[in-house]
This record gives sequence, structure tokens and C-alpha cells, in this order.
Amino acid sequence: MAAAESKTVHSPLVTYASMLSLLTFCPPFVILLWYTMVHADGSVAQTWYYLRQHGLQGFINIWPRPTAVAWKIIFSYAAFEAVLQLLLPGKRVEGPISPAGNRPVYKANGVAAYLVTMVTYIGLWWFGIFNPSVVYDHLGEIFSALIFGSFVFCIFLYIKGHLAPSSTDSGSCSNIIIDFYWGMELYPRIGKNFDIKVFTNCRFGMMSWAVLAVTYCIKQYETNGRIADSMLVNTILMLVYVTKFFWWEAGYWNTMDIAHDRAGFYICWGCLVWVPSVYTSPGMYLVNHPVDLGIQLALYILVAGILCIYINYDCDRQRQEFRRTNGKCLIWGRAPSKIVASYTTGSGETKTSLLLTSGWWGLSRHFHYVPEILAAFFWTVPGLFNHALPYFYVVFLTILLFDRAKRDDDRCRSKYGKYWKLYCEKVRYKIIPGIY
Ligand code: NDP
Repeated sequence: MAAAESKTVHSPLVTYASMLSLLTFCPPFVILLWYTMVHADGSVAQTWYYLRQHGLQGFINIWPRPTAVAWKIIFSYAAFEAVLQLLLPGKRVEGPISPAGNRPVYKANGVAAYLVTMVTYIGLWWFGIFNPSVVYDHLGEIFSALIFGSFVFCIFLYIKGHLAPSSTDSGSCSNIIIDFYWGMELYPRIGKNFDIKVFTNCRFGMMSWAVLAVTYCIKQYETNGRIADSMLVNTILMLVYVTKFFWWEAGYWNTMDIAHDRAGFYICWGCLVWVPSVYTSPGMYLVNHPVDLGIQLALYILVAGILCIYINYDCDRQRQEFRRTNGKCLIWGRAPSKIVASYTTGSGETKTSLLLTSGWWGLSRHFHYVPEILAAFFWTVPGLFNHALPYFYVVFLTILLFDRAKRDDDRCRSKYGKYWKLYCEKVRYKIIPGIY
């Protein structure tokens, strides 16, 4: 059933086109992004000039080879996170019922893993055991190793999906490219307890965001003997965002990434490579661009960013609380308005879901994407406007979330039918109230 679902949502043409572009453009883009931020003053024009002068050979020359140091850093970090995921205690949490009728069970130890990771990393630096500047100095090699390593990991996922799927939420759609790209398993595990998507998306991907934000901050400090207020605002906002993420991690296990997207190249390569490189890139830029904003401007940006992260969190919290209490909660001080939507599962059972139509979810169907995009803008803007490249993440995120809103709408329309139509009549706008 899930295979059928992924088939209807993504046509083979879309899959081929996005896979080809991901394979062809994303790895070189990651390397060029790193090169421009670290070696070309953040200037696309400078990189362009270099490439025009030196051509393909010049590009091959700047692509760092994955070194032993890079592999060591990646494997130590991955092993540390895997051990924390397995061993730290946490509450037992049940995920949403899957298309095949399974209910995945998780151990909610994300906050503990996040705290242990940050304290250990900063502690290693503080006590002179390991200097995070080493990570920054080998960043190109690390991204290069991640690009190749993650590809091999996705082949492993494909083979595992065929030979040893972890649950009935798996299957082939008889097209090797679609199977590899969109994935074969919804909830792949190693053994009974090690959830692969929790590892790739949360404990490797999202955790690397916080680790690299701190790395950039420390690198600037080690280089200049001080941290510019622009870097501080950027790092604090990114850390608040990632802290919010781990605080709400069990909620993330109910979202499209986990409950609908299978573990394939699209989501896993994205979390293992794109998140550490592209998502952290505004901080990567600031290392060599210590802009002084002044206390007043720095504070305005900081407060605006924190407000956006809070609103984004509150949107997710509202939906989750509403579903958890079966609609028996207060939304902005009132009883929620809702639609009781029924749908049929893959096994033919009829079930119902509640759709919230008040609070943030009454403003538009994906209002939470607005503060998400604005928060990204606020942690980028401390770098000011000398270069466009630091804003790449904001632009990418905007395109990603507008596409995601469409994908989610399509999926919910096919799941809920007339009830989704009713929801769209009640809540007319997709993302921006009054506009779109
Ligand atoms: P959502 O949290 O928006 O979940 C969408 C699902 O919620 C729908 O598929 C539907 O699932 C259910 N739903 C939709 N409308 C309603 C409603 N009115 N009431 C109750 N349930 C509803 O998914 P996302 O994964 O897109 O977003 C989660 C968070 O992750 C957000 O904060 C977002 O900003 C962030 N995000 C960040 C990204 C990044 O790269 N930085 C990328 C993507 C998301 P069901 O089948 O259960 O009905």
C-alpha cells in the first residue's frame, strides 16, 4: 500500500528528474558552496571567475578527497550518536499508525542525546582534548566523504529493503530507480531498537547542525580572539532552533519525513549531507566575516528570530496537543473548531482523524512554514547583504516548503477526499493568509 502511495504522489518522470538533478547538481553544489564560503570570501563571482579561468580541471582540483581524518571524525561522531540513541534512557513513545496498520515504538531520548553531545563537544574543547577548529579546517574533506559515504549507505538501505525489511511497511514498486530514490522501507531498523530514520534525520543530521554551529563560533574565536555579535546571534538562533527540534522530537516522528517518506536516497542523503552543509552555511560564511552589528540591532534580530522559532514551535505543538487530546483542549483559549475526517487504510479499515480548523491551523493550511522561513532569514541576516550566497538556505527552504505544502495537500486530498475539500473551503489559503 505504501508503495502504491509513493507511486501516486511521485510520478516516474518527477522521480527521474529530481534524482538526476540531486545526483548531478547537489554534490558539486555542496563542494562549491563550501569552497566559496571558506576560500572565496563568500563571493559567487570569485568562484565563477576561478572556474572560468581553470575550467573542469580547476573544479576537480578544489574538490577535496575524503581523507583519513575526515573519515575518523565522521565515524567517531556517528558511533557516538548511535550509542547515545541506543543507550540513553527515554520515555516509550508510539508513532502514528502506518499505512499498513503498524504502530512504530520509539525511545524519546533526543533531549538527553542533544545535551550529552553539546556538553561533550564543548567540554572536549574547553579541556584541550579536541579542538573543533580541526572540523572546520577539514570541512571540505568531511563533506566529500559524506557525499560518497551516504550514497553507499543508501545502497545498503535499498538492499536491506529487498532482503530484510523490518516491517510490513515496505515493498518494491518494481522500478529500481524509484525504489532507490524514494526508499523501500518506512521504518527500517537494525535489530529491534535501532531506528535508522531517527538516526539519519535526527541524531546525525539535526545534531550535526548544532555541532557545526558551535564549531563555526569556536573557529571564529580561535582565529580572531573574539566572537562578533553577528556570529553570536547566528549561533544562538540556530541552537534555539535545534534545541526546539529535540524538545519536540517525538512530534517530528508524526510528520511527513517519518510517517510518510520512506528511507531512501531523497530523505537520507538529504539529512546526511544537505543538512550539515547547506543548513549550516550562514554560520560557515560568518567565520571569515565577523560583522559587528552593534548591541541594539543584534538584539532586535535575536528577539525577532526567537519569536519566529517560538511561533513555529507553537503551531506544531497546537496540532499535536489537539490530536493527542482528541480535540479536548483549548486553542487560543477556546474550544477548537474541527472537522472529523474519515479515511480507509491499506487493509480496508475505516478510521477517523481530526483536522483542526482554528488557531494557527485556521489561518492557513501550512501557516507554520511562514515562521520557519522567517527564522532562517533572521539567522542569516546578521551577515548583512554583501553577498547573496548566505541566503541560499532561505531561498532553498522557501522552495522546499512551498513544494511540501503542495505534496502534503495532494496526499491529504487522496487520504481524506471530501473532508479535505471541506477543510480547504473552511481554511482557504495554503501558506500565507490572504495571499497564497
Ligand atoms: P506537518 O507537521 O505540517 O504535518 C502535516 C500533516 O499533519 C498532514 O500530512 C496531516 O497528516 C496532518 N494535518 C494537516 N492538517 C491538519 C490539521 N488542520 N489538523 C490536524 N492535522 C493536520 O508536517 P511537516 O513535516 O511539513 O512540518 C513539521 C515541522 O517541520 C514544521 O515545523 C516545519 O516547519 C518543519 N520543517 C522543516 C523543514 C526544514 O528543512 N527546515 C522541512 C520540513 C518541515 P495526517 O495524515 O496525520 O492527517
